[in-house]
Amino acid sequence: MDQLPLEGMPRRLYSCTPSRLNTWLDCRRRYRFTYLDRPQPAKGPAWAHNSVGASVHNALAGWWREPYERRTPLTAAVLLTNGWIKEGFRDEEQSARWLGRARDLVSGYVSTLDPADDPVGVERTVATRTKVVALSGRIDRLDRRGDELVVVDYKTGRRPLTQDDARSSLALAVYAIAASRMMRTPCHQVELHHLPTGEIVEWRHTDESLERHLRRAEEVAEEASAADERYREAVAQPPGSTRGRGSQGRTGQSWAGQGRAGQERAGQGQAGQGQAAAQERAAQGAVPQVPAEVDALFAPNPGPICSWCDFRRHCPEGRTAGPDRNPWDGLAE
Ligand code: SF4
Repeated sequence: MDQLPLEGMPRRLYSCTPSRLNTWLDCRRRYRFTYLDRPQPAKGPAWAHNSVGASVHNALAGWWREPYERRTPLTAAVLLTNGWIKEGFRDEEQSARWLGRARDLVSGYVSTLDPADDPVGVERTVATRTKVVALSGRIDRLDRRGDELVVVDYKTGRRPLTQDDARSSLALAVYAIAASRMMRTPCHQVELHHLPTGEIVEWRHTDESLERHLRRAEEVAEEASAADERYREAVAQPPGSTRGRGSQGRTGQSWAGQGRAGQERAGQGQAGQGQAAAQERAAQGAVPQVPAEVDALFAPNPGPICSWCDFRRHCPEGRTAGPDRNPWDGLAE
C-alpha cells in the first residue's frame, strides 16, 4: 500500500533547478530521460551551437576573473580562443569560421562594459526555498546598480529576443528572488544580453510578479515531485512483482533490471538472460523499460523541439514530429 504522509511531518522538499522545471513543462519524457533514468540513455552528438554558447559564456566569465588591467577586448578574444569547444561542427573550416565570429562577439561585447564595474557575482550559484521546493541555479552575471541587484543572462542563439522572453522567464525570476534573499538586497530587474545583435532585453518585475513566478515554480515542482515518486516506486518493485507491470509484454525482471537499483538487485541472484540483456542495454545507453503506467506519466510532447532533442533516437513519437538535424544546423550560417 502507498504510504500517506503523516500529519505534521515535514514534507520532503523537491530540489531542482529552473531548467528541471522547464524540462518538465516542455516534455515529460525528456524529463524522465534527463533526470530519472539511470544510467542515463545515450544522448545524440553534441550541438555546434551549444559549443559556441558554452565557449562564449566561459570566456565572459573568465574575463571578469582577470585583473582589472587585463580586462580588455583582446583578453576576451584570447580567452575565447584558448577555451574554444570544437564539438559539433561539420569540419575544421566551419569551426575556425565560428571561432572568428565568436571572438568578435565577445571582444565587441566587453568593449561596451566598464572593466572597473565589478559584478557582485559571475556564474554565481544562488538558492532559495519555500515549503515545497528548494531551487538553485547559476546566474551568468549579477550586477549591482544603485541599491539594487540586476540579473544578467547572456544569450548567443540566432533567434531575436523579445521583452516577453525576459518577463516570462521562470529562471530569471527565480534567480532574482534567490539573489535578493541571499544578499538581502532588492532585485527586480532581469536582463537578457543578446550578443549577436548587441541588444539588451530587460524586464522589471514587481514583488507580485516575482511571487507569481515562485507559486508557478511550486505548482510545477509538486507535479514533477509526485511523478518522480511514482517512478521510484515502480523502479523499486521487486523482480517478478505483478504490480506496475507494463504492457510491453516484459517481465518485471526485464524492466526493473535496467535502472541502477535494478542492476543491484539483479546482482543479488537474478542472473540470467534478462539480466544480461538489461546490462547490455545499459552499456549501449539504451532506455530503461518502465511499466506502461509510468510511461504514461512521462508522456512525450512531440513538436518542433523534437528535432533538437538529445534523446530523439529513443523516442518514436519525437522522430516523426520533426526532421533529423545535423549537429551544426543550429548555427546561423
Ligand atoms: S523527441 Fe520530443 S517527444 Fe521525444 S523526448 Fe524528445 S522532446 Fe520529448
